[in-house]
Amino acid sequence: MKTRQTKAGLPAGSLPVQEIFGPVPQGEGPFMGRRACFVRFGRCNLHCPPCDSKKTWDSSRYDLRETCPPRTVENIIQIAAAHGAGSGLTILTGGEPLMWQRGTAWEQLLQDLPGEVHVETNATIAPSPVTAGRVAHFSVSPKIGRMGAADAQKKRLVPSMLEAFAELAQQGRAAFKFVAADIGEVDEAAEVVRAFHLPQDRVWVMPLGDDAATWAAAGADIADHVMQLGFNLSGRLHLTLGVR
Ligand code: SF4
Repeated sequence: MKTRQTKAGLPAGSLPVQEIFGPVPQGEGPFMGRRACFVRFGRCNLHCPPCDSKKTWDSSRYDLRETCPPRTVENIIQIAAAHGAGSGLTILTGGEPLMWQRGTAWEQLLQDLPGEVHVETNATIAPSPVTAGRVAHFSVSPKIGRMGAADAQKKRLVPSMLEAFAELAQQGRAAFKFVAADIGEVDEAAEVVRAFHLPQDRVWVMPLGDDAATWAAAGADIADHVMQLGFNLSGRLHLTLGVR
């Protein structure tokens, strides 16, 4: 018998997952240090050049059927539970996890996952009512500077989406995280904050760097400016501590 497939070509009831790991300290943003299990979904609608998760979307370099195989909801929950889900945060990340929220598998996952669930998103897709109702916190990362270099501005900065997340941030349910390599990029983030009325105290600027030395050098350059603008500075604990 032929297996029923979703529009995305996945077996019905499954989601593409690149990796599930934990328990580890959440490395970034306002929940830095919290015990967390990460579930990283395949595919992304953006193509940020410095992306550190290219195995989730870069089909020119990876066979995505191998890097992000479909997993049933039951299997995802079983593995996540063995890696700390339910006894700390479970962070749904990617790729862009909200690409999958229209399917029944996503809704089943949100219903059955134990404990507090967070989502990391690039701010181009609004949370569905089911997602918004279940997810305790959204880490929202609009792309600017080097991160945004490969995608048109209208694709990566969608006004209606930024406004929807700004409302969640006002309610204390979302925080914005901008990755910036230098002061010019911090100013670019500040322009987005101003243009879309994002609440300033819910903004974290994270120095660009995929190793501890690069992160620290960028951080030293921008920290004062980030403070003067009224934003917060984000760590990358997994880099600076050399943990997962
Ligand atoms: S939005 Fe995130 S996962 Fe997608 S390409 Fe950009 S950094 Fe990578």
